Amino acid sequence: MMKSLAIIFLILSLSTAAIAQRKTYDYNNLSSDQIEEIKNQLLELRRYESARKEVGIKRFLLNQATKMNANQANFDVNYYGVHVNIAFPTQSIIASIDYQITSQIPALNSVDLDLIDQLIVDSVKVNSQNAVFSHFSGILNITLPSAIPNGQSFLMNVYYHGQPYSGLGYTDGGMGFQNNNGNLVCWTATEPFGSRNWWPCKDTPEDKADSVKLWIECPSNMTAVTNGVLQSNTLLSGSRRLFYWKHNYPITTYLVAISVATFDMVQKTWNYDGHSMPVYSYTFPNAFVYKQVFDTLTIPMLNIYSDAFGIYPFVGEKLANVNCGIYGTMEHQTCSFHDPFSSYDPVYLLIHENAHQWWGDMITCKTFHHIWLNEGFGTYSESIFYEGAYGTSQAYFNHMQALKYLGGGTIYVEDPATQTIFDGSLSYNKGAWVVHMLRGALGDSTFFRVIKDWTSSSFRYGSATTQDLASFVSDRVGSNMNWFFNQWIYGDGHPDYEYSWQCRRDTIDGGFKLELAIEQIQESGVLFTMPVRTRLITTGGNRDTTFFNNAWSQFYSVSLPDSVTNLQFDPQEWILRTASRVPFSMHVATTACVDGALGEEYYQKFEAVGGDEPYYWTFNGGDLPFGLNFVGGTAGEITGVPSYEATFFFTLKVQDSSIPPQERLYSYSITIGPSSDICGDADGSSAVTVSDVVFLINYIFGGGPAPAGSSGDPDCSGSVTVSDAVHLINFIFSGGPVPCSACN
Ligand SMILES: [Zn+2]
Repeated sequence: MMKSLAIIFLILSLSTAAIAQRKTYDYNNLSSDQIEEIKNQLLELRRYESARKEVGIKRFLLNQATKMNANQANFDVNYYGVHVNIAFPTQSIIASIDYQITSQIPALNSVDLDLIDQLIVDSVKVNSQNAVFSHFSGILNITLPSAIPNGQSFLMNVYYHGQPYSGLGYTDGGMGFQNNNGNLVCWTATEPFGSRNWWPCKDTPEDKADSVKLWIECPSNMTAVTNGVLQSNTLLSGSRRLFYWKHNYPITTYLVAISVATFDMVQKTWNYDGHSMPVYSYTFPNAFVYKQVFDTLTIPMLNIYSDAFGIYPFVGEKLANVNCGIYGTMEHQTCSFHDPFSSYDPVYLLIHENAHQWWGDMITCKTFHHIWLNEGFGTYSESIFYEGAYGTSQAYFNHMQALKYLGGGTIYVEDPATQTIFDGSLSYNKGAWVVHMLRGALGDSTFFRVIKDWTSSSFRYGSATTQDLASFVSDRVGSNMNWFFNQWIYGDGHPDYEYSWQCRRDTIDGGFKLELAIEQIQESGVLFTMPVRTRLITTGGNRDTTFFNNAWSQFYSVSLPDSVTNLQFDPQEWILRTASRVPFSMHVATTACVDGALGEEYYQKFEAVGGDEPYYWTFNGGDLPFGLNFVGGTAGEITGVPSYEATFFFTLKVQDSSIPPQERLYSYSITIGPSSDICGDADGSSAVTVSDVVFLINYIFGGGPAPAGSSGDPDCSGSVTVSDAVHLINFIFSGGPVPCSACN
């Protein structure tokens, strides 16, 4: 608790002291106006994070260039070694890339890499021999000296130079040389397909290299920061310096990034669960606020996220928060980049970008249809941070309120080429609510166990789709959860609930009966299935009860020892919904019929509650089972003996006695199954014996009880007569025909 309070103090004091114009918030006590303000700030921030990516993806999707070309599906890149020599005055590079590539076809003859035309390729080597290449239309095609068989690896080197394409700011990413508030910086940000703007690679998130090494040469007064662990820092002649970094985790090309500038560096050590890992901040000397935020909140954040989601995925290496150029905010693997002179709250940027180390970096959305797996989880993590930092669920729920979105649209991005992918309201906010609702539906212990299982599953360091997650969760909780993901990810909107309840004495069983009706009235046409948590305020204390709601109109009846004085419907908002209480009207209390069996007496009574008694029942269409009769009026019952096996569907209407009357329709089904009687077992003893003969004779001649169903008609004549008794005697004593063997 002391730790949590200390973090809150830090968040508050950092924001207050350093940024005069920004309001500060106490997450334990947010007014609705403040929640609205935070919501607007966050939506701005989402645009800031995503605008460049959005443009880049669109550009490529519309050019049909996002998919790997046919050749690129034939090989797997295992390793990249990036050597880049940076010249600030000419804003150019001299560079080479080492590759280890594995053939995935019987005879790989050539390799296509993505590289923009303005970078000039000088030579290519394959297994140390010069190789023939061509380079135009953004593709570097390399002819392999000999065909490489399936599963065999080879080494390749590409030497090139020139001016990279910047594409930074709000375009599609690349490598930029900028002066950011007095700080010269060369930096890259390339999600999704902009790595080709500065280095030749197989530029698709689908192929993660197993490891990457980077050698970056720059002016000696600067530091080059990138993925992984710094191996060496060598002063060269001519006031130059060479930084060598190595990253040993699977990584997509868009998460490889460098930032080269004069930094203040602070190193701290994070100790967690027997691990010890360096945590760095690389900030511009005049980026005071960011320096403070990074240096005070990074370790608490790592603790909170690791507790919730499993340990930081790259704990074998480091986490660095690094300043970069203008409009930079990006979750590069092991080194999140932040433009320190944006007007956005550095706390939000820190906790959002670094959540992506789990959601986006470790587990990457397989295609942009499923971007919510990155952004929804990343945004949800913000609430986990506030919950952990404040140590209260109120802080968590308050942040969820700031993420609440009740508008239309689906989280699933049907067509990334034409629809908004990084929609702040859908991919981020509603996506976060889906994770929140999953927590609500599963309960805390199951939810966090499943999330930790997910981050340590075969999807760890890989990529996933919504269906991958839905199947995984279903498997872990032991029940099919597709309904949850289908309605919330592919469905539009949210449920609008109308609920009503009454509590009355239970005159039959004693105690009290709570009667609750829930209707879904949304016009989207999507029916939502959700467990609805309620808190019942009773004369005997509070009682938390969950109602599983999966119909447009649903009625529940609960017996309780105490009277309910109030019912709070989803009081903590575990569901993205609206809800309003309406007066308790008449409801049909009989929500399903019992099923019947062929030839056996059937009885079903229909009940209603609310409104004014008596109730009047009428048949409103459909088919009753053959042999059954509906008795309408105030009786409201079905009786008879079914004569045909099938399932029958019908609708009843009930009216009460108020003026004008309330009226409801309710649809039912009755399934008539096979007779459960044993033919010849007239007395129901489960065996055919002489007692059955006695039973039949008693019925036929002595006015005794009738045999059930067809059990008394072993000769299949259609009626119970003395011949049936004779048939049984023959069967039992003389090896005569089996009872009912002559029936069709
Ligand atoms: Zn994000």
